[in-house]
Amino acid sequence: MGNDLFRKYMKSKYAQSLKRSGAEVKWIELEDISAAVAQACLCDGLLLPGGADIAPSLYGQEKSEKCGTPNITRDSAEPVILDAFLKSGKPVFAICRGFQLLNVHLGGTLIQDIPKNGKFRKHMDFFTRADSIHRINICENSVLYDILGASTADVNSMHHQAIDKTGANLTVTASSPDGIIEATELNNYPFCLGVQWHPEHMSKKNSNQQKLFDRFVAECKK
Ligand code: MN
Repeated sequence: MGNDLFRKYMKSKYAQSLKRSGAEVKWIELEDISAAVAQACLCDGLLLPGGADIAPSLYGQEKSEKCGTPNITRDSAEPVILDAFLKSGKPVFAICRGFQLLNVHLGGTLIQDIPKNGKFRKHMDFFTRADSIHRINICENSVLYDILGASTADVNSMHHQAIDKTGANLTVTASSPDGIIEATELNNYPFCLGVQWHPEHMSKKNSNQQKLFDRFVAECKK
C-alpha cells in the first residue's frame, strides 16, 4: 500500500467505529488553525486519533534519535483545538498519539522510545492490530472500568512511545503489567478518556472495544 492509501485505511477505522455507535463523523482540516478550531467547535465531541510522534520540544526535551519525524501541522493545530474543547466541557476521546498529546498538553512528558530490552514487553506489533497482544490492569472507580465492566482487558499495541510523567489532573486508570501507562482520565471533567492502544482496530469483532466508542458517542449526544 502506498503511504496515502495506508493513511486512508488507518483513518477509516476511526470513522467506522464511530458510525457503528451512531455518530456523524467530520474530519477537520488543520492547515488554517483558526478555521479548524471554528469547525471543530461545531461538533459535539472531539476524537484525537493516532499518528506521528509529537515534537519533543512540546514537552521541553531534545529530540532523541529514535523519535520519529513530527507532523508540524498536527502539532500546531491539535493543542489549540483540544484547549477549546477542554474549556467547553465537551467530551474528548484521545487515542494513541491523541492520548500522548492530551498528556503533553497538560504538562506531562513522554518516553521517546520504549527500550526494546529489559523489563518492557513488546508494545509495537502492527500485524496483530485486530487482536490483543498484551493485558492491561484497569482501576476500579474509573470510567474505563465502568465501560468495560472488568479489571483487566487484552488490547493491541502499536506504539513505541509512552507517557512518562503524567500531565496535571490526569489519573492513570490502566497500565500494562510491565508498567506502561495505557489509559488516563481527566479529573473533574464530564468525559475525557485517553487510551494508548487502538480500539478502532479491534472494535469490529470485539464488542467490548466498540463500547468505548458507544460511550463516547452517548456522551456527545447528552
Ligand atoms: Mn501497549
